[in-house]
Amino acid sequence: MAAGFEPLRKILELEQKRGYDNTAVFGGLDRFLKNWAGQGAEAISDRRLLGRFQQLVARVDYASLSGEQRRDWASRVLSLARELEGGAPAQAKTEGKAPSHPRAKRARPLKKAVTVSGQDLDSPITTVKGISTALAAKFGRLGVKTVRDLLFFFPHRHLDYSQIKHISQLTEGDEQTIIANVWQAQATRLGYRQGTEAIVGDETGNVRVVWFNQPYLAKKLPTNARIVLSGRVSLFKGHHVFESPEWEFVEDKDLVHTGRLVPVYSLTQGLYPRQVRKLMKGVVDQWAGQVEDFLPAEIRERCDLLELPQAISQAHYPEDEMMKGKSRVRLAFNELFILQLGVMSRKHDWQESQPGSAFAIDEKLVNGFTNSLPFQLTGAQQRVLKEMLGDMQRPQPMCRLLQGEVGSGKTVVATAALLLAVANGYQGAFMAPTEILAEQHYATLCQLLSRAEGQEEETPYLKRFSGLLSRPITVALLIGDITPSQKQELQQRLANGDIDIAIGTHALIQKGVKFKRMGLAVVDEQHRFGVTQRSALRQKGFRPHMLVMTATPIPRTLALTLYGDLDLSVIDELPPGRQTVKTKWLRPAQRESAHNFIRKQVAAGHQAFIVCPLIEESEAVIAQAAVVEYERLSHEVFPDLKLGLLHGRLSGEEKDEVMQRFRARELDILVSTPVVEVGIDIPNATVMLIESADRFGLSQLHQFRGRVGRGAEQSYCMLLAENPSEIGRQRLDIIENVQDGFVLAEEDLKLRGPGEFFGTRQSGLPDLRMARLSDVKILELARSEAMALFQVDPGLRKPAHRLLAGEMSRVWPQTSAGEWS
Ligand code: ADP
Ligand code: MG
Repeated sequence: MAAGFEPLRKILELEQKRGYDNTAVFGGLDRFLKNWAGQGAEAISDRRLLGRFQQLVARVDYASLSGEQRRDWASRVLSLARELEGGAPAQAKTEGKAPSHPRAKRARPLKKAVTVSGQDLDSPITTVKGISTALAAKFGRLGVKTVRDLLFFFPHRHLDYSQIKHISQLTEGDEQTIIANVWQAQATRLGYRQGTEAIVGDETGNVRVVWFNQPYLAKKLPTNARIVLSGRVSLFKGHHVFESPEWEFVEDKDLVHTGRLVPVYSLTQGLYPRQVRKLMKGVVDQWAGQVEDFLPAEIRERCDLLELPQAISQAHYPEDEMMKGKSRVRLAFNELFILQLGVMSRKHDWQESQPGSAFAIDEKLVNGFTNSLPFQLTGAQQRVLKEMLGDMQRPQPMCRLLQGEVGSGKTVVATAALLLAVANGYQGAFMAPTEILAEQHYATLCQLLSRAEGQEEETPYLKRFSGLLSRPITVALLIGDITPSQKQELQQRLANGDIDIAIGTHALIQKGVKFKRMGLAVVDEQHRFGVTQRSALRQKGFRPHMLVMTATPIPRTLALTLYGDLDLSVIDELPPGRQTVKTKWLRPAQRESAHNFIRKQVAAGHQAFIVCPLIEESEAVIAQAAVVEYERLSHEVFPDLKLGLLHGRLSGEEKDEVMQRFRARELDILVSTPVVEVGIDIPNATVMLIESADRFGLSQLHQFRGRVGRGAEQSYCMLLAENPSEIGRQRLDIIENVQDGFVLAEEDLKLRGPGEFFGTRQSGLPDLRMARLSDVKILELARSEAMALFQVDPGLRKPAHRLLAGEMSRVWPQTSAGEWS
């Protein structure tokens, strides 16, 4: 009886924590109570308490209460709940037990109690029978924290054990399933190892079964037990043998490990396939039915999609291949549909809710700038510039993604746009993912502007250029390692409008930095930047034009999906005279010849990059490893050459110094952690050696490779890999043979899947688990349905879209609060 009040108590406690804002449960407390009160009442046998319950719980209109009244009401209900839960404290004491103990026991869901609402699905997985805190921690490492997470913890594939055969039909080499009786099972020595050996039989014959390393199994398989075996059959001394098959008893229950499509989950240390399968079967059977389908029925029917609960259970334990396919379509549709709605609403928010600033286009200024450059813009650069100018002429803020290979000349185009903003009396911000890159952009920009006329350096962080506009243009670099007083001064001047263009990392728009009139924000390297930064800008009251640049080529279908909120421009043409970088995958035995090759290039007056292996995620560990590698290379391999070291743990000043020395050719070889990945521009560097190249994704390798081949000389990229995995080999093979960034991106996606490709977690986009790049049809369907829905009800305020609104706020939590409710 008592456990029935657990959900109510939890919700009220949460409500208390949130300051009684009626958000502890989806749809508000009243809706929950309406559904739940009847059931709560049923569980109360004491008439007096029932009366109080009815009075308090069944009649309340929580939404209409004041904050004070809510608090008062909640504390009364909580004390009633405690009484109802039998937790009269005195009693607990006389029993001499720790009070938390009996309660923990009661916290287990009653099957009945959990039919209440979606709320239960968000309780921790320890709610599930058989999941201890220790086990929960292991799931936690996989990102699985709640019951809902478990339901959406899909297997990455299934083993097809669905075809049940007779023993006489077994063939060698294949995965097969039989139902048989155990004749005999014993622990035995198998080769050098302990194991279990069994003889099983059906009406057509007998077969031997062996399990390596599992001598304890013998005791679990009593003679005459009926079991299902699924696994590979091999031939040993002329007889068929099952080798370490999956097995389970034939019982009344559904099969979990054998005789069907059996799920294979991606596990972590301490989680075992059998254990997880069994657990998941229970979870799916008990909880999947409670998932509310957020998709309006109309859409579901029009698109012929499974209902969500069914799709979830079929994704884990499909009846057959067809259902498995239908389930994946439904789940992929979910992801793409939600994604589309999210990006559409972002674009809507950005462009429609308030006007930005329309720029007047000063042709003379733009031409003056481009004519001052020592080269002609490529056709692609001119086209993209025109697209951007078209956008900035309009009052809706520009929202444009500029894609272009490394070295295709994006920065030049961005500079023209920044100039235009300044000419219109606005400030521009130019943001890079790292400080090194911010410094480099600063240097590039200054160089591009310096072609115009006079320049004047006030400090290394602040320069002024004259000749382009009727007044001088002030450009500043804001990074972490300037002194506090310098920083304060720069910020002051930014706030009063004295600085026209500010370059920095995204700290530029986050911390206490104020702009007087921000009119254009240029964001380099979108995929590392995080889409959330845009809302940071909006919160400051700016609606600048926005240009996002990326050197990661994104296939068009996917760009539309993930960046549906951005208009696309592509620079698909490199400046003339660029060489392709000769790329070679070397075996470990060829490391010395790679070093000799570097030596030769240096002797010819060039410079080299050596990229250190990526060992761990931690910046500190990577830096440490780079130091060791640098020492080794300087003393043992290239004692006669000048080496420099670059890693993320150096101070800005130190990095700067290393980069400057490398640029000034004082260093022959730059040993670096993967920070060298983006944007660094040293035309005299002609060779790059990448250690443990198999560990990097294709797009990343392509980025590294783009660091060389920036001058006129033939350049080279050498890839070393100690012991590459199958996927690693495939990548190396591809990067060796393909130069085109778009082709590489497609391949990368095939190998990694969209989620990993973009690091969507970082970028503030929801995860794609079931959707694949090849799902063009589902994508188009999801897109058109999302658009249609968005037309009718952009704020998802209609009752029919209530569940959808809830799903949106769960998946897009960073969207400003309340947007979906
Ligand atoms: P991205 O930002 O796309 O990596 P950049 O704008 O930094 O490329 O340009 C890379 C290099 O190419 C720079 O040294 C730049 O001066 C030069 N560059 C840019 N556009 C052209 C062009 N049209 N012709 C020749 N060189 C160019
Ligand atoms: Mg660049």
